[in-house]
Amino acid sequence: MGMQFLEFARMCEHLEGISGRLDLIEEISTVLPRIDDKELPIFVRFIMGRVFPDWSPKKLGVGPNLLYDAVAYVVGTKRNAVREAINVTGDAGLAIEGLLANKEQTSFFVQEMDLLEVYHDFERVASAEGARSQREKLLLIRKLFANAQPLEGRYLARLMLEELRIGVGEGSVRDAVARAFDIDVHLVEHAHQAMNDLGEVALLARRDPAALSEVLIEPFRPVKMMLAQAGSIAAQIEDHGEVAIEYKYDGSRFQFHKVGDVCRIYSRRLEEVTGSLPDIVMHLSRATSHDVILDGEVVAVQDGRPMPFQYVIRRFRRKHQVDAMMEKIEVVPRIFDILYLDGTTLMDRPLTERRRILEDVLDAHVAPQFLVTDAADAEAIYADAVSLGHEGVMVKVPASPYTPGVRGRLWVKVKPGVETLDLAVIGAEWGEGRRAKMFGSFLLAVQDQGRLLPVGKVATGITDEALADLYALLRDSVIAHSGKEVTLEPLAVFEVGYSEIQASPNYESGYALRFPRFVGVREDKGVDEVETLDSLIERYRQQRPSDP
Ligand code: AMP
Repeated sequence: MGMQFLEFARMCEHLEGISGRLDLIEEISTVLPRIDDKELPIFVRFIMGRVFPDWSPKKLGVGPNLLYDAVAYVVGTKRNAVREAINVTGDAGLAIEGLLANKEQTSFFVQEMDLLEVYHDFERVASAEGARSQREKLLLIRKLFANAQPLEGRYLARLMLEELRIGVGEGSVRDAVARAFDIDVHLVEHAHQAMNDLGEVALLARRDPAALSEVLIEPFRPVKMMLAQAGSIAAQIEDHGEVAIEYKYDGSRFQFHKVGDVCRIYSRRLEEVTGSLPDIVMHLSRATSHDVILDGEVVAVQDGRPMPFQYVIRRFRRKHQVDAMMEKIEVVPRIFDILYLDGTTLMDRPLTERRRILEDVLDAHVAPQFLVTDAADAEAIYADAVSLGHEGVMVKVPASPYTPGVRGRLWVKVKPGVETLDLAVIGAEWGEGRRAKMFGSFLLAVQDQGRLLPVGKVATGITDEALADLYALLRDSVIAHSGKEVTLEPLAVFEVGYSEIQASPNYESGYALRFPRFVGVREDKGVDEVETLDSLIERYRQQRPSDP
């Protein structure tokens, strides 16, 4: 018999009480060997608060409202009563646990659920589609909660909201897998990068550890994108002698998979966006006859000059009337890496070799690259990049492998300095992993005639220590909770750096900040002194006089 969901919930509760990372790893590593093959991948994902593999396009698609409706039905109340309970505890899991504990015992019997059954139900929830999908999802979720004991309810709810809040992150689980099956942690990490599902890696670690070192990237199973750190050209040249410089395109990252005639495109978040970008498929399938996985940036161009990022992102989101949109905005691929060629995984080959292969197999759309040893040459390329309308440059280490999901110094991004704004903090979102018990990001606003209008969120640039301080500063100003988000009484002012102000329908102010970065709390300023909408618009106009 498999692991009961109740046992899983008890384990989560136990882990929730442990704060040391090493203790968490120890605990998880002792449990892993006891779990049978079928449930091991599920357990590994669940314990990280995830339901499906990271590469999978499957999404549960359960928002707070659907969840609260299901719980309300099971405990015999209304959605609002559930919401109230959540506002009181500040945590959906705990509130729902309480509601289930208090409910009249109307159910004659509660069926035990094991991990596999819960997972299968989640799969059904995820695959519900079409007009009746919400209703179908609701029925499935009701069934789950009807069978749940209160403690199970706590973790079912949190799983559905994809946040377990037990302080267990990917790194801890990876270390626990290595430890449980006595395998070098680098090997586990490497296999994880290629497979993009720690659950399956755990299974392999137990069943066939030798195979871990031969894990391959598979087409149509996207890997995470390799990321860059901010840095300087000079330091990178000093450290490595020679560097490979590319333009930093202001577009949207994508991964292109092709086998024979079948092509698929994945966004930076690994969502499949093939249908929105038929022109990119056409460009790339014409440029190669090989089976490939390519990494690059989609950019919008007009009269040969790059257009701002927001034009591209509009295309990524486009589901209908793609044709009409295609005429308005021309998008082209800029390919800078290749991860797979005709059955061979290339992620461990040095960048210079991948580059040679890329130039061999792709007849067009390869992004220019300059191998440079001299800092003055590098600066000249940087100046060119900016004057051509690019964001800056990427400075890459020629000998580096492709490391999916890693934001390291093998790729360094260099772009012109950031400006800052002082903004009101009007909301926050709970953090993840070891930041699960504090806020991880903050909703910011400008002022406009006595109202505060959101312009974006900031999560970058804040150390763990600063986050703890911010939590202490803001915890008592929480007005309401909704899912992972809280509304805050506007008291604090943050100084925030950004790289660009963009027109955006996503925020009430009509604008959004690109690359917002926390600089500090302006303790000397009150909320009535924050940036006004008018001055924000003024800055927006000045940064790019040619913008529409
Ligand atoms: P950031 O999003 O600030 O971490 O910067 C990294 C992003 O720059 C990548 O995710 C890509 O979307 C983008 N980018 C633009 N040009 C390049 C390039 N030549 N190489 C790698 N990434 C690039």
